[in-house]
Amino acid sequence: MNYEVIDSHCHLDFPKFNKDRHETIERARKSGVVEMINSGIDYKTNADSLELARKYDFIHATLGLSPQMVPDATDDKINQILSQMERNIDKAIGIGEAGLDFYYCTTDAGRKRQEDVFRKVIEIADRYNKTLVIHGRDGEDLALEMTKDLDRVVFHCYGGSLETMQNIIDAGHYVSVPTLVCFSEHHKAIAKDLPLENMLIETDSPYLSPRKGRNEPAFVLDSVPVIAHLKDIDESEIALATMQNTRRAFEL
Ligand SMILES: [Zn+2]
Repeated sequence: MNYEVIDSHCHLDFPKFNKDRHETIERARKSGVVEMINSGIDYKTNADSLELARKYDFIHATLGLSPQMVPDATDDKINQILSQMERNIDKAIGIGEAGLDFYYCTTDAGRKRQEDVFRKVIEIADRYNKTLVIHGRDGEDLALEMTKDLDRVVFHCYGGSLETMQNIIDAGHYVSVPTLVCFSEHHKAIAKDLPLENMLIETDSPYLSPRKGRNEPAFVLDSVPVIAHLKDIDESEIALATMQNTRRAFEL
């Protein structure tokens, strides 16, 4: 099959790519992954994402603050990241990943702190009119409630319920299907139900590999035939639509 795609969410700066980062990026490009969006999760990975975007014009950076670090982080550390976002806003195509992770954090105090910090991140996305990339594991409903009025929102690696997904679509937001769709029944149900107009695809590399070992952006292509089969739509149409959706979602 000959078509081009975008990996809408990956972490190429992570240590898992230290030995062969450039080769991995080249491999993705040769496979037809024409653009990649690299998302930061904290101060260091935000800086590294910006560096990757500077080096490769087909890699774009988003600046994030992962909810997983929030419960234990000092106010100073959080504020450092928030000001890093604002300082570098012109070099980023979006804000995130940020949001809520109630799977990881089960205490009321921790969840409340995630919510408070997420609200500050939302304010930055809103103030600078940037696309927001949400990590919302087990907190999808509240994340949607908090971001309903934003213009451009992507629920990355969506794994919530089909009912909440309908509300996300009704709000005009995008839902990104990870390569998990290759082997997870729940993600197959999500991909089947999700209107093509709202769909992005991603690897979340180096996580969630559809093959043995580490995931990498080239493997986003594994998900295309799976989604095409589930929706009974041509592979090339899935590739084109998700690419156009990603460009629209991030104003590329
Ligand atoms: Zn991620």
